[in-house]
Amino acid sequence: AKNGGKGRVCRYETTLHTRILERLQLQAALDRAITNGEFRLVYQPIVALGPGQLRGFEALVRWHHPSRGMVPPLDFIGIAEESGLIVQLGEWVLRTAVATAVTWGGAAYVSVNVSPRQFRAPGFVDLVQRALAEHGLPADRLVLEITESLVLAGRDQERIEAELEALRGAGVRIAIDDFGTGYSSLSYLHRVPVDLIKLDKSFVDTITTSVSQYELVKGIIGLAHALRLAVVAEGIETAADRELLVAAQCEYGQGYLFARPMSAEDALTWVSAVPAR
Ligand code: C2E
Ligand code: CA
Ligand code: CA
Ligand code: CA
Repeated sequence: AKNGGKGRVCRYETTLHTRILERLQLQAALDRAITNGEFRLVYQPIVALGPGQLRGFEALVRWHHPSRGMVPPLDFIGIAEESGLIVQLGEWVLRTAVATAVTWGGAAYVSVNVSPRQFRAPGFVDLVQRALAEHGLPADRLVLEITESLVLAGRDQERIEAELEALRGAGVRIAIDDFGTGYSSLSYLHRVPVDLIKLDKSFVDTITTSVSQYELVKGIIGLAHALRLAVVAEGIETAADRELLVAAQCEYGQGYLFARPMSAEDALTWVSAVPAR
């Protein structure tokens, strides 16, 4: 037993060592990835749940590493956030998404993920306004997805709220991403200027199997509506999910039931296939 224990410790240390090394290698590779043009954006449709009509696309980043192949965002967004590279990467994502949305001719908006560190970086509001102006995209064709942690934490809260207000004043809409996962207090919704909430997939996953989860989702949607916020449900995979969400008055949805994230080319085909609202 003693030997076995030692072996486990050894294995554990080896694993840890490997992980740290991997992380450092990934970080170094990330630094070069932007200049090497290794990132791509894919676009996932967001539809009106009742009629199923296209409303917008969420832009999602993909990293095509020369030797590792496709690295999923969950494996590098955290590292990019810690190293600060997310500011540069986020700027590339924003500009690329805005440039692509112009090709949709007003038929769909683009929804862009903004990490807390990127939002807090100096000049973020200016960057958004310049990107829109340079590409000629109307501000109401852009949604920024922010996280609950951005609007809850810390001493720069007033500045963050003023910047959100400035963006909304310019016509950009703000969505709270992964809504319901992070914090138990919902009171910030009264204070913070937002337009949409994105109901996290973990809620959607359980509504067909648990009555109490479905009641909870209905409660969240009711609360959002009382605050004049629209709701986008994430991760809709089945027709049953969709029906329950329609019955709960949820306005918009996104998920594999409608489409997986796709290339900009395929997104353009989707736009031309679906009549504008
Ligand atoms: P997210 O913002 O919650 O994005 C939704 C994720 O759910 C995406 O994963 C999407 O591909 C996936 N998804 C959509 N519909 C379904 C479904 O029906 N079933 C299942 N199982 N999954 C579905 P993805 O693309 O791997 O992105 C993961 C996360 O990485 C995102 O979660 C977001 O937090 C982050 N991320 C992606 N792109 C960016 C970016 O450009 N900037 C920043 N800051 N974060 C990003
Ligand atoms: Ca998102
Ligand atoms: Ca989300
Ligand atoms: Ca999520």
